[in-house]
Amino acid sequence: LSSGEQPLMSVSEAQKRLLSYFSPLNVEKVPLDHSAGRTLAEDIHSAMDLPPFSNSSMDGFAVRSADVAGADEAHPVTLPVSADIPAGTISMKQLLTGTAARIMTGAPVPDGADAVVPVENTDFNYREPGQEAPRTVKIFRAARPNEFLRPKGQDVQQGELVMEKDSSLRPQDLGFLGMLGVAKLLLYRQPRVAIFSTGDELIPVDRPLVPGKIHDANTYILVAAIQEAGALPIRLGIVPDRAVDVETSLEHAVTQGVDLILSSAGVSVGAFDFVRSVVEARGKLDFWRVNMRPGKPLAFGHYRDIPFVGLPGNPVSSFVGFEVFVRPAIMKMNGQKAFARKTARVRLLEEIESDGRESYLRAVIARKEGSLLARLTGHQGSGNLRSLVQANALLVIPSAVKSLPAGAEVDAWLMGDIHEDMETTVRQSNSGGG
Ligand code: AMP
Ligand code: MG
Repeated sequence: LSSGEQPLMSVSEAQKRLLSYFSPLNVEKVPLDHSAGRTLAEDIHSAMDLPPFSNSSMDGFAVRSADVAGADEAHPVTLPVSADIPAGTISMKQLLTGTAARIMTGAPVPDGADAVVPVENTDFNYREPGQEAPRTVKIFRAARPNEFLRPKGQDVQQGELVMEKDSSLRPQDLGFLGMLGVAKLLLYRQPRVAIFSTGDELIPVDRPLVPGKIHDANTYILVAAIQEAGALPIRLGIVPDRAVDVETSLEHAVTQGVDLILSSAGVSVGAFDFVRSVVEARGKLDFWRVNMRPGKPLAFGHYRDIPFVGLPGNPVSSFVGFEVFVRPAIMKMNGQKAFARKTARVRLLEEIESDGRESYLRAVIARKEGSLLARLTGHQGSGNLRSLVQANALLVIPSAVKSLPAGAEVDAWLMGDIHEDMETTVRQSNSGGG
């Protein structure tokens, strides 16, 4: 069957079909310090209160507020200092009535004390390490009950649900779980994704170019994108345009126990045959023509039961194909529920031509007076990686749209920081000769 005879499949239909072959991977226990960026496969209920004990939020003196009622600059209250409580130690059981205890930030407040007076409001305004506590202290300020205290259980109470299954773990989440004493987490196993780039013209970046060859871009794009999506890349390198070499790489992927095999290039009609025959010899392959630009041809199937995606060779097509199809598949295997990129509504600064396919156009987005403006970054040829590098967004032009006037609003996938100023942005990209 020639691919030219197949009808164009909509992007959403192709996404739906492809994703139906993936499900969340099984789960494993992982130490907290190897969990960054991964997805939680369990609800976390706190086994403890946070803070675990009432503690001081200032360096100062723990007191009974009643003992310093009415204190001010003109009428200080003098109290004997009956204890010294650095952080990390256990205080006396009970603060003696009519006394103060010197206390450091984070140190446990003794029973009986119901407030802390900061050193600044006393005649002992010192906090150097090793400084001995005074025998008495003058208090220049009355204290309200609970002032400068962080009461036990103020932030979290034992048994509370503190983090939900399927959340992805950010640095602050790990710190929080650390404070709660959660040393190991139940996570979805990370997908292992094999990647090879086909092409007799390709040379790795660390080898000199010779006439007729180009440096490989896609391996670097895809390995980084795999990692960014939360999966482990298995690099199989550059593969010559020969069936036997493609087969060797596919077999290598199988022995590595991967969850997905990605290839780049060799999927345009004609060049495609050798990849197709090898995959089909031991699996099944569909060749889809997706109604999108760039990245119309997409090979999807299974090699020995392992899902296989053949991405286009042109670097921008390869990138967009990854974004539209592979990233969501990885995120689904990772247990995530939402696969979409962050989007924003943006206003076009110029007229845009499209060809009726769902188009992903490289653009710069800048903020102006509260709205977001978009301008294309250069010519939209699928080999022009430079305009993708200059872009901080992909504008998503819906199918069936042939042109849009300046001022029209479209959705944009945010792929970098929004610029603060379109003038400098445009000047910068123009001065680069692009
Ligand atoms: P193909 O799909 O093999 O016909 O390749 C389409 C275009 O993408 C050709 O111009 C290739 O040279 C180019 N291309 C293929 N693979 C890569 C790669 N890994 N890095 C950069 N360009 C590539
Ligand atoms: Mg090729």
